[in-house]
Amino acid sequence: MGENKERVMAFTLEMFPHIYMAKFNGENWNETLIEKEHYSYEEEKAMAPEAREKLLLSRNNFDNLPLVNYTSQYGMGCFEGLKAFPQKNGGIKLFRPDENARRMNKSMAGLMMPAIDEEILLQGILKMVRLNADSGFAVKYDPAWEKDDYLSGGALYVRPFTYSEPGIGVNLSYFPWVIVVATPVGSYFEVGGTNNAVTTNMIRATKNGTGWIKCDANYVVPTLAKKKAIGAGFMEAIFLDSEDHRYIEEGSSCNFFCLLKDGTLVTPELGDTILPGITRKSILQLARDRGIKTEERKLALEEVFAEGRECFVTGTAAGLTPINSLTHEGKKKVFTEKGMGDVSEALLMELKGIQYGAVEDRYNWMWSI
Ligand SMILES: *Cc1c(COP(=O)(O)O)cnc(C)c1O
Repeated sequence: MGENKERVMAFTLEMFPHIYMAKFNGENWNETLIEKEHYSYEEEKAMAPEAREKLLLSRNNFDNLPLVNYTSQYGMGCFEGLKAFPQKNGGIKLFRPDENARRMNKSMAGLMMPAIDEEILLQGILKMVRLNADSGFAVKYDPAWEKDDYLSGGALYVRPFTYSEPGIGVNLSYFPWVIVVATPVGSYFEVGGTNNAVTTNMIRATKNGTGWIKCDANYVVPTLAKKKAIGAGFMEAIFLDSEDHRYIEEGSSCNFFCLLKDGTLVTPELGDTILPGITRKSILQLARDRGIKTEERKLALEEVFAEGRECFVTGTAAGLTPINSLTHEGKKKVFTEKGMGDVSEALLMELKGIQYGAVEDRYNWMWSI
């Protein structure tokens, strides 16, 4: 399946050499910026594949991090994902990094570990991206992206995550590291491809669980469900609620939206089973600004099948990705044969435009490094 290969390739890890690390010592966060072995970005791109692989692997090796710990054994960790975009008028800007820093702080608290101060993390992220850019490790702006309104645009993916102290007995992490790495990414889904989704009977999150936390453990079930969906010829798995198995919750790692025939844009309301996506929040804002009526509430499958006109999923990785069809228990509902509906497209264009500096950033979502 060419489409799937394409998407996987977009997520290859090509870690940039400057890495941010903060370690909690019981009282405060000791920060360090690590510079791993590197040549120039251009030289590295031109390297023989095996030599390059070896270099990239060495960047992913840390002598001071314990192999056996609460994260590697029990999934006791959380993470973030955000992007830095090369700007039409030069420079690099991060999309709402303050929101990611805040959510990381909440996720850490949710896992009952000492939570890094959001301001410390925010500055760490900015510093790390700047240091990489200063040594030539940056995604360069390509005017060719303007031809498809940035659908094919590249970006720098920034990944903050926690990592626990050594340990073998089941426990919380009391002295975690917070590490931030970066890797370039291409577009998530194949440009112009068809994204057919299918419901899964697997359960991502339950009431009183960890669904609202961006934690490692939440990714096990969605990864299995998505693999099964892909095996059955679909692109995405859609999760339903755990109690009634009737209400749409999320995609495998993205929030779900449905534009109804009456023009209302509906997304499942936040609660402890829905991840509060920053893209979700941004799209809701952009939609309201266009005079689109938005609702955050329960969204039943029957409603989507009977009343849905356009559907899409949102997330840092997915951006805004149309769902062309949804299949549930063998019944298929087609929203758009190909490409995307008008409202989805307008919202996507505006979001991408803001991110690449081609549309006015009226809410100061973009942060210069
Ligand atoms: C990260 C994530 C999202 C998307 O959040 P963004 O802040 O928009 O990137 C949605 N659902 C889940 C389960 C996630 O982990």
